[in-house]
Amino acid sequence: MIRYIENFYMKNFLWLVFSFYFSSFLYASDHSIHFEEVAPGIFVHQGEHLDVDETYHGDIANIGFIVGEEAIAVVDTGGSLEIGRELELAIKKISNLPIKYVINTHVHLDHIYGNAIFKKKGTDFIGHIELPRAMIARKDFYEKTNLQYLEIPPEESIQIPPTILIKPNQSKNFDLGNRIIKITGYPISHTNTDITVEDLKTKTLWAGDLLFIERTPVIDGDVHGFIAVINEILKLDVIQVIPGHGSPTKEWREAFKKEQDYFKLLRDEVRKAIDDDQDLQLTIETAGQTESKKWELFEIQNARNINKIFPMMEWE
Ligand SMILES: [Zn+2]
Ligand SMILES: [Zn+2]
Repeated sequence: MIRYIENFYMKNFLWLVFSFYFSSFLYASDHSIHFEEVAPGIFVHQGEHLDVDETYHGDIANIGFIVGEEAIAVVDTGGSLEIGRELELAIKKISNLPIKYVINTHVHLDHIYGNAIFKKKGTDFIGHIELPRAMIARKDFYEKTNLQYLEIPPEESIQIPPTILIKPNQSKNFDLGNRIIKITGYPISHTNTDITVEDLKTKTLWAGDLLFIERTPVIDGDVHGFIAVINEILKLDVIQVIPGHGSPTKEWREAFKKEQDYFKLLRDEVRKAIDDDQDLQLTIETAGQTESKKWELFEIQNARNINKIFPMMEWE
């Protein structure tokens, strides 16, 4: 009897160990692509706050989709075909409506390399008028980055440029069936390719990387332009904003102001450093530092921001 009980427990124990191992294995390969419906018909997957370095896995940006009564629009596709595929799977689980539009909020690699999964008849790609050119300009660098960190061969780093183009300060409406989305282009700010997507039905704004929450904001365009664009966005009548990185928020005005405060501080301190003949290296070590506790991944990204704006501001 005791022997039987021992056997019974042993078998169950082994089964538990086995199933735990197996489920954790499944979980690891599943890569935790999870979508949340943040407003009726608007689904968002939040990427992780990781840098583009050894930790990068292609899934660091927010991606998602908007479901109308007749069609679906995808907003950003992630950093790889694998993420694009998981996005498509998630869409198919929710709706069989056609994917009519794929929108790229801007050129950065973590937002565009899932595009090719959606290249089908009847699907149009939408982006900033500068996006096709910017994609080509960054192609080699992005292929190398994807090879180095994601082990993706260059032939699988596929760019699909937009064919519907949005100019700076221009808005175009697209109908998904009783659901209008308004896409607006911006002058140079986060990059030279930024657009936003506004769902008029739920007053939700998809801001792309014009808004960072939690994670340190990135300036890969122009600090003055970015500050000005935030002033424009603050005038909008929306309820919720989905940032390019971080949690969707209804406290969006505060979030944009927090980001803008960082940019203004950086602008002023870099300006002063240049006026004082301080060199780039010392400026990287000192400017913006009072913001360091407010943001994730601050040291590396603040340094990159200064590296970007210092040479530009030297000429002002
Ligand atoms: Zn991004
Ligand atoms: Zn970006």
